[in-house]
Amino acid sequence: MFMKETIENTKLEVEDIEQQIRELSNTHVLFDEEQLEVKNTLIFSMVDGKVCNSITGTSSQNCYICGCKPTEMNNIEAIKSRPVIKENYRYGLSTLHAWIRFFEYFIHLSYKLEFKTWQVKAENRDQYNARKKLVQNKFRAEMGLLVDIVLQGHGTTNDGNTARKFFKNAETSSLCTGIDVNLIKRCGNILSTIASGYTINIEAFEKYCINTAKVFVSLYPWYYMPASVHKILLHGADVIRYSPLPIGNLSEEAQESRNKDYKMYREHHTRKNSRLNTNEDLLHILLISTDPYISSLNRQTNYYSKELTMEARTLLIQHNDDAEYSKIEEDMELNHSLSELNF
Ligand SMILES: [Zn+2]
Repeated sequence: MFMKETIENTKLEVEDIEQQIRELSNTHVLFDEEQLEVKNTLIFSMVDGKVCNSITGTSSQNCYICGCKPTEMNNIEAIKSRPVIKENYRYGLSTLHAWIRFFEYFIHLSYKLEFKTWQVKAENRDQYNARKKLVQNKFRAEMGLLVDIVLQGHGTTNDGNTARKFFKNAETSSLCTGIDVNLIKRCGNILSTIASGYTINIEAFEKYCINTAKVFVSLYPWYYMPASVHKILLHGADVIRYSPLPIGNLSEEAQESRNKDYKMYREHHTRKNSRLNTNEDLLHILLISTDPYISSLNRQTNYYSKELTMEARTLLIQHNDDAEYSKIEEDMELNHSLSELNF
């Protein structure tokens, strides 16, 4: 559809998809002379925070799980006893966007480190702009990263790759931003744990998240924790408990990573004599490449798993499973040979 992503349009689209889910009929399979019936359960987990806020009717600054407002975000003890809307756990954790949200939290915090207020007052405006420039220049010089630069028409330069680089190089990132290095490391551990696709040790994870939230508010009490960070640290463990699969498998990354395929297919594999033909060809090639058999040949290894720190591994169950790791190695080789096919 050629239309703007408004709250109204998002709601209509979600209703339409939910209706289609309700109308799904069970799949019947004959297996070993037994009639099997497969019930399809579809989960809305690949949505980003913006969509969650639209469907739950929450302002982007508030939490759609506990309704917490920015001014209440830093009172960790009070939040723990707030009533929650359990139904909204089903929207998952948007693990891909989480990297970017945490990263932006840190750089915005860094811009304000000198005057230590959440909102930038008029008298601090120049100081803010100067520090922003300084931080951006440091990132460019130290890590070759373009940070927080607005791109005409599509957001900023803050993408998943920039964010992952930031957490992977915690020491340098701390030098560039002036933010406590341990806090950056802790958040990096949390993010790579939820992205890993492994089964998480929920009790250990919950404790680690709450303690991280406490470190946040004790170091930076003047900066209200953003709702997206609050969601992971305070509700992350409960969302994972509710999730039917390892949370990393429910990431919106699957569809986000299709954006570049979409562009490439549209440019090179479609007729351009009408919009209808273009869309038809595009859908055909998307269908081919998502065919269960074909996509199983090119199963992507979860590359986060290679980057898990020892501390992050303590948040997982069976983090020392050698069989699992040798399987990863095998997959890497398989992917390597398949990447030459590149279809
Ligand atoms: Zn909340």
